[in-house]
Amino acid sequence: MPPNLGVKYICFKCGSKFYDLKRPVPLCPKCGADQRDSPPPAPPPVERKRPRAKTPSDGEALPVTDPEAPALEDEDEEEPEAAAGAGEAFEEEP
Ligand SMILES: [Zn+2]
Repeated sequence: MPPNLGVKYICFKCGSKFYDLKRPVPLCPKCGADQRDSPPPAPPPVERKRPRAKTPSDGEALPVTDPEAPALEDEDEEEPEAAAGAGEAFEEEP
């Protein structure tokens, strides 16, 4: 990039790109619009970003500690061992 071009502008009126050539007044070479009179750029539409990190159980009182839950886990762990010992156990499972 040549250093003598100054600040790059995009004309707010006609949209042409130009450099102000380090002039005190940045005028569009096509339409002559003073870029200092350009209105502030419109803010982009705000996107609602929902935090997905939170789980449904976060902050809500859900009955996570079910006294029957550990018992069920123990049965699931015993099932493969029992199935391995008895060959007919495989037919019972869908
Ligand atoms: Zn222009």
